[in-house]
Amino acid sequence: MSDATYGFDTLAVHAGARPDPTTGARNTPIYQTTAYVFRDADHAAALFNLQEVGFIYSRLTNPTVAVLQERVATLEGGVGAVCCSSGHAAQIMALFPLMSPGKNVVVSTRLYGGTVTQMTQTIKRFGWSAKFVDFDDLDAIRDAIDDDTRAVFCESIANPGGYITDLRAVADVADAAGLPLIVDNTSATPYLCRPIEHGATLVVHSLTKYLTGNGSVTGGVVVDSGTFDWSASDKFPSLSASEPAYHGLKFHETFGPLAFTFHGIAIGLRDLGMTLNPQAAHYTLMGIETLGLRMEKHVSNARKIANWLEQDDRVNYVTYAGLESSPYFNRVEQVCPRGAGSLFTFAVKGGYEACMKLIDSLEIFSHVANLGDTRSLIIHSASTTHRQLDENQQRAAGADPEVVRVSIGIEDPDDLIADLDQALAKATA
Ligand SMILES: *Cc1c(COP(=O)(O)O)cnc(C)c1O
Repeated sequence: MSDATYGFDTLAVHAGARPDPTTGARNTPIYQTTAYVFRDADHAAALFNLQEVGFIYSRLTNPTVAVLQERVATLEGGVGAVCCSSGHAAQIMALFPLMSPGKNVVVSTRLYGGTVTQMTQTIKRFGWSAKFVDFDDLDAIRDAIDDDTRAVFCESIANPGGYITDLRAVADVADAAGLPLIVDNTSATPYLCRPIEHGATLVVHSLTKYLTGNGSVTGGVVVDSGTFDWSASDKFPSLSASEPAYHGLKFHETFGPLAFTFHGIAIGLRDLGMTLNPQAAHYTLMGIETLGLRMEKHVSNARKIANWLEQDDRVNYVTYAGLESSPYFNRVEQVCPRGAGSLFTFAVKGGYEACMKLIDSLEIFSHVANLGDTRSLIIHSASTTHRQLDENQQRAAGADPEVVRVSIGIEDPDDLIADLDQALAKATA
């Protein structure tokens, strides 16, 4: 079942899944197998030639993972998806078919800390580079794009401050330059924001966060909109030109709108091997069934807590985009109409020392480097997740040394407020 005319919550439970044809098992079984028996020699040859779609080996495809791929693709409004072993793997898998040595990606300064490090340091080993600009400044994005640019990359609701990107405006800039826009939709989830509807070409997720939703899995996914014309220029030869590893097959010519997805499996997973395991896919499928319910509670809790913090004189400011005082408030309606998520930062009076005391005094909030858990989480980004950045980069990202980042869970909001209240008292005593 993957009929896009059903509502979001119906698709979150059913898309991609059907009762097991041999046993009738209603929940998607965990296909804990490495390999699949071929019907005969011709079947094996056809699969290896990409003439027939089927299961060969679980580094490439697995039936449990395939259900998850179809479910996320459906929820995002894409044509296909490729799961991989983590959110960071998904980012490499998204860039891999587009980039080659000497090429660059134009990226937002407001990103998950690990992504900043991946883009500033690690991708250089591949001969790729990233140009960081403020994505609120469209001219800066235009100016950064050059002949060697192959993609534009940002987050929908951006880490750590919960800032909202004007996806439509950024997509128009990418479009005018003939480039794909990649949106990391981890903090929003497709329940709050569907980047493809705002012009994104590819959507990446860390499944680790809200999609699984309970802090038990590491995983990632790349969703393909199927709308980009990879053959319109000679910039994307991996997709438009002959592929020597498949006897000269051209992915875009052969697979049309599914070119990126097929390339992701047939080349990306085959050769990079960043595969999601079926156990992790199973936990994520169970998590996604309750995505809508959880996101409603995450958002309503975040609203209450952000409002409470903003009115407290032990707090200097709160960055939640769902607050009327936020410069991003007017983007909520357009980009994520069901709410601004549950991730934001706040500045504690007393600066760094007070932040540390606050974190150590909390009882319900967990001090961890994660987000999008049912549990409420807190961290001091500048000294942890954004530690590899210099102070200018930290401030540009919104990870100022005097703020803490929270990911508001689905507990009782009054308990969370009481916990913050007692910890703020200790932190500012
Ligand atoms: C966590 C996260 C990532 C990285 O995902 P992993 O699953 O930890 O590799 C990327 N982007 C955002 C926005 C994240 O929150």
